[in-house]
Amino acid sequence: MTKAMLNVENIRNDFPILKRQVNGKPLVYLDNAATSQTPKQVMDAIVDYYSHYNANIHRGVHTLSQEATDIYEQARVKIQKHFNAAKVHEIIFTSGTTHGINLVANGFSSLIKKGDEVLVSAMEHHSNIVPWQMLCERTGAVLKVIPMNQEGELLMDAYSDMLTERTKLVFCNHISNALGTINPIAEIIEKAHKVGAAVLIDGAQAAPHLVADVQALDVDFYVVSAHKLCGPTGIGALYGKEAWLNKLPPYQGGGEMIAEVTFEKTTYADLPHKFEAGTPNICGGIAFGAALDYLQKIGFGNIAAYENELLTYATAELLKIQGLKIYGTASEKTSVISFNIEGIHPYDIGTILDKMGIAVRTGHHCAQPIMDFYRIPGTVRASFAFYNTMAEVDALVQGVQKAKDMLL
Ligand SMILES: *Cc1c(COP(=O)(O)O)cnc(C)c1O
Repeated sequence: MTKAMLNVENIRNDFPILKRQVNGKPLVYLDNAATSQTPKQVMDAIVDYYSHYNANIHRGVHTLSQEATDIYEQARVKIQKHFNAAKVHEIIFTSGTTHGINLVANGFSSLIKKGDEVLVSAMEHHSNIVPWQMLCERTGAVLKVIPMNQEGELLMDAYSDMLTERTKLVFCNHISNALGTINPIAEIIEKAHKVGAAVLIDGAQAAPHLVADVQALDVDFYVVSAHKLCGPTGIGALYGKEAWLNKLPPYQGGGEMIAEVTFEKTTYADLPHKFEAGTPNICGGIAFGAALDYLQKIGFGNIAAYENELLTYATAELLKIQGLKIYGTASEKTSVISFNIEGIHPYDIGTILDKMGIAVRTGHHCAQPIMDFYRIPGTVRASFAFYNTMAEVDALVQGVQKAKDMLL
């Protein structure tokens, strides 16, 4: 890993929210795995849209509509280039990761039959479990779980043994939001393809930290949410290989997704519009593009290197606290630290930290099966972004120590 080359103080000036106080203390925002903060550059793109060219897209002949269409479609190209998709129409705008997964799961209803098998990893977010359970209920397919070890790493030998000609689909996150584990997705995809199974990778947690090259990975579907990478909520993207997107039926019916409508029969629009029924989140798509511009300017290599420094320092400092246990100690992980202190409920630590202005997440992190695996009700999760500082790590560690002294 190269040394980080970024000026954190300058970067923090781009984020107005980082200047606010919470409960009389400077905000220490360490809930980045739930949602990231928004830089001025992205807010400016939003204000610019509503100030200058707010209009509905794709149908209008007037200037505003054409400008909005152009800039919205330019954002799609930015996403295509960022993930190195072969074709721009392989990028479908969604409302987020959850929407993207449901779109694919719903489409597979007609392609999966009773007795087929779908594999899902033991460390998934609920949004990458429940849609597949619903698919299995509709079709009679069987859901199987790829197991993991105590460190929070998938058991790849067990995975290999589970793959058979009955396996039709494999779902896995690129990075676990609860543990921080970076999963070996290249190997997961290659092995699945050997038995003819398609693979969907949930990239929601990976996208803020690293750049996935969908062609190099040969992945069939990759889904992300803009709000985890400095964009707004309510917008995301689904990458799908053209051949798969052509095979899947549309998810929702409405305007924008049709070629021709009569009461006898409707024909569908070409990709990507076949999957984009109704007026989309135009401003959100444009802001998503602005967020990618912003992050690319800082550089994902710099972001990864700096976040790794934060992770290493925070891990070492937290482990100095007696009775503190970290869940998720994979050799490959990103800047997420899930932990508990023996004898204290995570919620109580989170509440005391909030009084000190420190925002962490407590609970099951939408990944209850992981908590069941460790036989715990939940964890405290501190997740770091490139705009966090070493001083904020110190504030967290002091805060946790103080909470422990108060509660034990
Ligand atoms: C955040 C997250 C999701 C859900 O994303 P939404 O934006 O809520 O749809 C899914 N999977 C992982 C790994 C996540 O981190």
